Amino acid sequence: MKTTEAILIALYLLLGSWQGDLHAQARVETATQGSLALKWLGNAGWEIQIGQTIILIDPFLTRGEANLGAEWKTDEAAVLKAIQRADYIFAGHSHADHIADLPFIAKKLGSKVIGSRTTTNIALTAGVDKSQLVTISGGEKLDFKGFSVQVVESEHGELKRRGGKRRPKFEEITKPWSGPILGSSFVEGGCYLYYFTFGKLRLLHQSSGGFIEDNLTNLRSDIALLYPLDRNDSATILKALQPQTVYVHHFDEWRNSILEGIPESNSRRAQRFARDVNAIDKQMGTNLATRVDWIQEW
Ligand SMILES: [Zn+2]
Repeated sequence: MKTTEAILIALYLLLGSWQGDLHAQARVETATQGSLALKWLGNAGWEIQIGQTIILIDPFLTRGEANLGAEWKTDEAAVLKAIQRADYIFAGHSHADHIADLPFIAKKLGSKVIGSRTTTNIALTAGVDKSQLVTISGGEKLDFKGFSVQVVESEHGELKRRGGKRRPKFEEITKPWSGPILGSSFVEGGCYLYYFTFGKLRLLHQSSGGFIEDNLTNLRSDIALLYPLDRNDSATILKALQPQTVYVHHFDEWRNSILEGIPESNSRRAQRFARDVNAIDKQMGTNLATRVDWIQEW
């Protein structure tokens, strides 16, 4: 199977799954460790199950815009409907739609948290135990039981604001405080790509639409979980990663309930990305195979 076909199959199966439930799941055979299951949680959120280990990345199940001046409240029922166990939670950056549910999950399920100092300071403030926190700043290579992760410094994508496009202002939280955690507490705090190695399978997660091109060297990935914001950027990252399979995320309307599904305009954006990928692949002329089976019930 050609790369393009693999990518499109994955993408369209994901599109198909929108009809019933935003959550979708894929199983990939790894060379050395058997089955790896991927479950999309909406927005940039994923659950990866490898053996008995559950890894979450940017899980955000509450959905909805955080009220900047009010205390943040996680929708605990919505979180627990999707997540029952979590050994690790990786945070790509610290905006609310990526980490606002992280403290609740970490406290409830005892998960280890890996994120910037902004993320870990917010977690500490929320009452997550210090022993659960690993603060990263880019460049680390972390080894865990059964997998390893390279932390790659990245950039936030440019967002449309008042007719122009620009990156959100960079802000950090450098120490915990007495609380409460407000909607405005979730500042960016730096953006990171996580490059996982599971046996021989390599998987990259992009939390926001930006990246630092020089940092993409040697990040060839079997699976890429990408946030496609800009056509040219997508071409650059795909050429660097040469993935066999791409799953796009962060195109659903995370401000709305998961029950409302994905707006038509967002679906069209994802389809446009699929066509772009197709064009890029023809230029690359690669010929790789992939094995992905989708399970839409879980
Ligand atoms: Zn963001």
